[in-house]
Amino acid sequence: MNISQTPEKIRALIAPLRGQRIALVPTMGCLHAGHISLIRKAKYLADVVVVSIYVNPLQFGENEDFNQYPKTFEKDAEICKNEGVDVIFHPENLYPENGARVTLKVSDMSNMLCGIARPSHFDGVLTVVNMLFNIIQPNIAIFGEKDWQQLAIIRRMVSDLHMPIEIVGSEIIRETDGLAMSSRNRYLNPSERQQSLVLSEVIRLIKNNIQQGEKTTKSINLGMDNLKKHDISPDYLEIRNEITLQPENTITPQSRMFIAAKIGKTRLIDNISLKTESENTL
Ligand code: AMP
Repeated sequence: MNISQTPEKIRALIAPLRGQRIALVPTMGCLHAGHISLIRKAKYLADVVVVSIYVNPLQFGENEDFNQYPKTFEKDAEICKNEGVDVIFHPENLYPENGARVTLKVSDMSNMLCGIARPSHFDGVLTVVNMLFNIIQPNIAIFGEKDWQQLAIIRRMVSDLHMPIEIVGSEIIRETDGLAMSSRNRYLNPSERQQSLVLSEVIRLIKNNIQQGEKTTKSINLGMDNLKKHDISPDYLEIRNEITLQPENTITPQSRMFIAAKIGKTRLIDNISLKTESENTL
């Protein structure tokens, strides 16, 4: 396994491999089983797997956790090696000395859901993903469904800008008790860790109620009551179309429920498809 730290070095390394199918798995490191599932999917779908590990300053707001974001590079490299990753791209900085001058934005998808609490977050994500695509020029790139809004926005960028890259979504990996895995879960103290379970429980409860014929609004209200009972006031708990992210009035096979809430100081997100099991297997 090779570790490259500059765009020039990784380009030179990849040049003789062109012609093989190259997959990119972008991450910010602190790898867990969620990231590993992306790497395994990449291994299955491609000949060469590149994992990028870069904590992108542009996607963090001023009062967010950029400076405290966990860095575990040695352990991450060990995991990548064991998973058969070919190359880690681990740049120190990807921006001009005085910061980003060129940024990307998806006008109608970046300012809703997580974009409300994090107004420039998705511009930062798109800008860095675009840079990674330009540097590595992968045939496919794998993203987790845990960050569904990010996945939908990246799909939109790739389609509207005619980028010749296949975007593959990968299912949410959860702890055994249901909490979606996240590098930020390590910020939670034991009582917050317990409280955080309510997020996945509530979206499952609402999905069950809707599937048993309960009205959507009533089901969401029940979910909100449940959150309140556990002292959680979410940033949002909403059903939207999973492709366009626009609100949905009726449930369709593209309906997906999204939740975000702060547990203590840690902001957690989760989502679930409202497809029935039989629609899932279609
Ligand atoms: P991050 O390092 O948090 O930026 O995440 C890197 C990639 O891993 C993103 O595509 C995430 O959506 C994905 N990811 C993070 N957590 C999970 C999870 N629990 N299940 C599946 N994918 C995940």
